[in-house]
Amino acid sequence: MSTYIRVLLIALLASFFRFLMHSCSWNLLLLLRVFLLQTVQQEILQSDIQSKADKSPVTVADYGSQVLVSLALNMEVTSGSFSMVAEEDSEDLRKDSAEEILEHITDLVNETLAEDGSYNITLSKEGILSAIDTGKSEGGPSGRHWVLDPIDGTKGFLRGGQYAIALALLDEGKVVLGVLGCPNLPLASISNLNGSSSGDQMGALFSATVGCGAEVESLEGSPPQKISVCTIDNPVNASFFESYEGAHTMHDLTGSIAEKLGVQAPPVRIDSQAKYGALARGDGAIYLRFPHKGYKEKIWDHAAGAIVVTEAGGVVTDASGNDLDFSKGRFLDVDTGIIATNKQLMPSLLKSVQEAIKEKSQAPSPL
Ligand code: AMP
Ligand code: MG
Repeated sequence: MSTYIRVLLIALLASFFRFLMHSCSWNLLLLLRVFLLQTVQQEILQSDIQSKADKSPVTVADYGSQVLVSLALNMEVTSGSFSMVAEEDSEDLRKDSAEEILEHITDLVNETLAEDGSYNITLSKEGILSAIDTGKSEGGPSGRHWVLDPIDGTKGFLRGGQYAIALALLDEGKVVLGVLGCPNLPLASISNLNGSSSGDQMGALFSATVGCGAEVESLEGSPPQKISVCTIDNPVNASFFESYEGAHTMHDLTGSIAEKLGVQAPPVRIDSQAKYGALARGDGAIYLRFPHKGYKEKIWDHAAGAIVVTEAGGVVTDASGNDLDFSKGRFLDVDTGIIATNKQLMPSLLKSVQEAIKEKSQAPSPL
């Protein structure tokens, strides 16, 4: 395992299992994971949730995870300058009205750091705010940048659904490493199409290094297994993933793409980049994402997931078939939407996507 992957794992495990469970010894992980999934996720207090300017929710878990990952990376990555592009910033937490939530984050982070014992640090509230703000880098085409979504799929997290910690590394504008921690995703396939699995082990950690393939392992550290996208070449046998939230993707458009392609199975709707992980191990054949007009995609919502899929043999492009370009800063400049599938299905998928988009643009707008 490369040093970077180990660092990513340390960071991810630190953030999920030491922070959210915040009472921990490693041999209690199995028990505590159940606690995390069944208790903490459901018992998060209303006072632990804020609403961002775009009305999306952010919780103590998002902020705490960003603090812990940024601290762990800062400690472990000692060579060269450190740059991180991450979703959260401290602006809302600096308001007087956020005093209670900031106190809660500070307590949880410090408890976690003390229980874990790897780093002999206690953070002040100001230390918490500045650790969050280490994620303010603009990224770009040169140098190395860590890319973090501390809790991707916050709505799924709050609903008891899927969520992921997503961490990637950009080198000269290209994604070279990616890790997705998905605590609520079964380790076994969810290919029975309703998001559940016959296996009972929960939690999957996907990782990929450029040129070396993609792997999945359990969150307790089972031996990693190589993964690859499915080999389906007839859309009739394909299923497709999309966002659970209708506000995040146009379900009418994806339905029409699937129909044109000849897909017969109903959509599998799950939150977060867990979709990329599930696609990469062949649980489904296609991922369709078509945000409503005006939304700009962020690099932290796709960097880790995209490399896990491409290293598993898949293809990830925009609706015109262009590769995703992570070198443009915090945003992705994509045409209309993002699609992912295997190499066999991509040509017919692209054709159906373009036909469906054209048809939608020509349809009379409802008044
Ligand atoms: P998903 O789990 O597929 O619904 O995607 C979750 C991600 O969608 C979140 O992490 C957000 O960053 C992102 N998101 C937020 N608002 C929108 C929107 N209006 N359209 C598309 N994606 C969004
Ligand atoms: Mg996200």
